[in-house]
Amino acid sequence: MSPPAPRDVTGRASTGRPHRRFLLGGMALLTLAGIVVGVVEPRGASEPAVAPPVPPALAPALAPAGGPPAGAGAGAAMLPAAAPQGLADAAAPVDAGSLPELPGVAPPVAAPVLAPAADESADESAEEGAAGPQAPALLGWPFSASGTLALGAPQARTVAGLVSAYAERVELAERTRVKAVKTWKVGKPPLRAPAPPREKPKLKTEPGHISGKGLPPVITQVPTKDKVVFLTIDDGAEKDPELLRMMRELDIPYSSFLTDYVSRDDYGYFRTMREEGARIQNHSVNHKEMPRLSLAEQRKEICTQQDVLEKEIGERPTMFRPPYGAYNRDTLKAAAECDVDVVPLWTAEAFADRMEWGRGDGKLYPGDIILTHFRGKGQWAGSMPDMVRLVVKTATEQGFAIARLEDYV
Ligand SMILES: [Zn+2]
Repeated sequence: MSPPAPRDVTGRASTGRPHRRFLLGGMALLTLAGIVVGVVEPRGASEPAVAPPVPPALAPALAPAGGPPAGAGAGAAMLPAAAPQGLADAAAPVDAGSLPELPGVAPPVAAPVLAPAADESADESAEEGAAGPQAPALLGWPFSASGTLALGAPQARTVAGLVSAYAERVELAERTRVKAVKTWKVGKPPLRAPAPPREKPKLKTEPGHISGKGLPPVITQVPTKDKVVFLTIDDGAEKDPELLRMMRELDIPYSSFLTDYVSRDDYGYFRTMREEGARIQNHSVNHKEMPRLSLAEQRKEICTQQDVLEKEIGERPTMFRPPYGAYNRDTLKAAAECDVDVVPLWTAEAFADRMEWGRGDGKLYPGDIILTHFRGKGQWAGSMPDMVRLVVKTATEQGFAIARLEDYV
């Protein structure tokens, strides 16, 4: 079965003025060309990419002694949550003239310039680790040698139409997002992630973790210089529709690691999530501590959930995150046997009311993986939107964009 198409960033036609649309189209393409040649960098990309190691006290447990590591599953006092407001008018038109300047704005995906109606093509090329959605041919096309748009020929008019349509989509997506920034009270617009890397970084098991031939690498962050971090949400118990709306309106990528026994009452929720652009990964059937199980039992926990998610979501996960971050060599062996390529742990954990920092310095570093959970107001001090708000604000304040883990891993 083919995977569901990622979300369409606009989904409706614009009534924009032709000249302006065309101009915007050219600007969008220039922005894209800038990304292709590396002119446009994520903000502050020159900052040091080397992060201090995660101290063992906050690192995920290799072999747990008496339960999950600090923070994993910790409850919190109930506090009244700030309910999101203005949902009904979230899609109301915004005067484009009043739009603030958006930092780091780039086309959500580059491929639609060539094929505006086929977001899926960009997605697939990213998955395959191919040349990436930014085709080199775009550098010289549709521009003339002087750098101006070459118009006149029928082909060029078609190109102009494509560029114009693409610009409309970008414009509308950005207007929706600016509106969403107010709706969800995230302060500034979240920074846009740069175009996905043409080649995914080569992953190596990080020091202090178990490695071996044929075993999937265990990582807590992705080796990249891009100022991006990744949001990963575990378990699946809380199925808050507000989370879906918030992520859709703010256009924030994320990955969900699902445990079957808390997700199975409504896989439809996660199918919708996938259709709207999130990715679904494996977090076992019963959320057991893997090192307490035999190899055969671990295989059952991991591989059964691979099959369940493939059937329910329509694509087989490529990543497995062990519950509590606890694993041993058998875990990696079992995971390798059922098509798991990577075992991502984390460097920081987000709650509804606070961040817990694996390195203790309160800072994000390029490629950091942020862990959080699907939890309701009764389980932590706020709502899912409260948690996302905190993560988005933290990332934006520190100059980071939230990127899609699967674009890099
Ligand atoms: Zn979990």
